[in-house]
Amino acid sequence: MNLADKIRTIPDFPKEGIAFKDITTLLKDPAAYKEAINRIAERYESKDIDLILGIEARGFLIGAPLALKLDKGFVPVRKEGKLPGDVVKTEYDLEYGSNIIEIHKDAIEQGAKVLIVDDLLATGGTVKATVDLVEQLGGEVVEIAFLMELGFLDGREKIGDYEVFSLIIDE
Ligand code: AMP
Repeated sequence: MNLADKIRTIPDFPKEGIAFKDITTLLKDPAAYKEAINRIAERYESKDIDLILGIEARGFLIGAPLALKLDKGFVPVRKEGKLPGDVVKTEYDLEYGSNIIEIHKDAIEQGAKVLIVDDLLATGGTVKATVDLVEQLGGEVVEIAFLMELGFLDGREKIGDYEVFSLIIDE
């Protein structure tokens, strides 16, 4: 199945000039959703991973089913003010303005091997901030996985020296 065809592009959302990759069309198609998760899971079946970290909100939709399939725990990375326990937080720049994300302090143990998951790699700012939080807590980032990557934005360069896997790459 060509999974790229299942993701639609909405022009000028959320603002002019952005071609928004809408994954709701893939999620609604049970065969496509299952195939996407199974194909990402295949890559990690034999890798040494303790935890899967999903980034709010669409990263949950990929990370949680992946965690169930791989029989690993799931940890949410959330926007500011949503997690009830003690957190570590970091602020990072967006195209316009900035954003704060948080993880529970006790969610990652020293030396835990972590797979970070999000739906889409654009500029890489969100995932770079997530890597910083994982490392602040003493976790080890094994790899970073995306359903889709916008290759032309060179997000991989911003992420730096980490293994990055994307199921679909839009060059
Ligand atoms: P970035 O930090 O630039 O890599 O942006 C990544 C986050 O923003 C991801 O969580 C995506 O869900 C979202 N995002 C950025 N650009 C797009 C886009 N063109 N289409 C859909 N989602 C996007």
